[in-house]
Amino acid sequence: MAAPGKVAAFRLPPLPTIGEIIKLFRLKALKQLSQNFLLDLRLTDKIVKQAGELKNAHVCEVGPGPGGITRSILSAGVEQLLLIEKDARFIPGLQMLSEAAPGKVRIVHGDILTYKMEKAFPKHLIKSWEDEPPDIHIIGNLPFSVSTPLIIKWLENVSKRDGPFFYGRTQMTLTFQKEVGERLTANPGSNQRSRLSVMAQHLCTVENCFVIPGQAFVPKPEVDVAVVHFTPLVQPKIQQPFELVEKVVQSAFQFRRKYCFRGIETLFPENGRLKRTEQLMMTANVDPTLRPFQLSMSQFRNLCNAYRKMCDEDPSLFVFNYREELRQKKMTRSTDQPEQTEEEN
Ligand code: SAM
Repeated sequence: MAAPGKVAAFRLPPLPTIGEIIKLFRLKALKQLSQNFLLDLRLTDKIVKQAGELKNAHVCEVGPGPGGITRSILSAGVEQLLLIEKDARFIPGLQMLSEAAPGKVRIVHGDILTYKMEKAFPKHLIKSWEDEPPDIHIIGNLPFSVSTPLIIKWLENVSKRDGPFFYGRTQMTLTFQKEVGERLTANPGSNQRSRLSVMAQHLCTVENCFVIPGQAFVPKPEVDVAVVHFTPLVQPKIQQPFELVEKVVQSAFQFRRKYCFRGIETLFPENGRLKRTEQLMMTANVDPTLRPFQLSMSQFRNLCNAYRKMCDEDPSLFVFNYREELRQKKMTRSTDQPEQTEEEN
């Protein structure tokens, strides 16, 4: 089937529509699995277009479901398409698509959260990190309950250059709940600026491509959906281990509406907390009265570098866990009120 609205690089033979596939294989969307399908091939083409040039590329689609996006990817003329789908009910419909594009499709019935991406593509595609991105793309419209933990896992993989980034700076085009898309791309000072903004933007160029209104899906989800494109940066903006950056950023945002000092404090044990927090803020040259969402990337970088220096001087510091300290205090002084934290999602 030719993709509407553009000249297809590969023409699939006539196939039942996605709606017919859903009926044929009785693929009722399971609400408890947050399954919402895209049936409009103009829209799936538009999503796939955000990935860039896919002619002769190797693509992994996560959560293909009834195969709308899958058809658009095949129409773009890819060399190989790996499909990873958790729900066995979709496999026969995907096999039908695979037969329509002989030799191009590999179907894996599995979970993307545990699938070993290091083995997903041929080794000859590996590019050095400093080189252009490899001809490998990841595309997916997953349930929101999967896409957010998955992007956090993949950001860690970017930082460690493993998982899908074993092959180089693999690009990703993924969907998120609109608000999560806004957080991923939010600038300092913006209401949406959060832990996710800093973690994503220090490792990748992140582009909020467009929003798909909820009514474009069947069944219609409660929220609108953002299509977000990620290209890992050659040089991360903060050159410290992922776990360290995550700890500093998470601490800073712990009390979103308070001075950043209040969150940064939680990096240190009670004994000497104030003095060490002041020392950190001073070394990093960060105004402690800024709110966490006002901090720039270079201020986060300075905080991480200064914290790293303190951890190198006192290795017990990095393993300190504020919540654990709170828990211990609560246990020993059972009459104490637990402290309220203003956690972000
Ligand atoms: N991509 C299809 C579309 O756009 O119409 C289906 C989208 S539906 C929101 C999400 C799909 O991801 C479902 O097919 C679901 O079974 C699959 N899925 C959910 N969790 C998954 C996981 N952990 N690994 C692989 N696939 C998953």
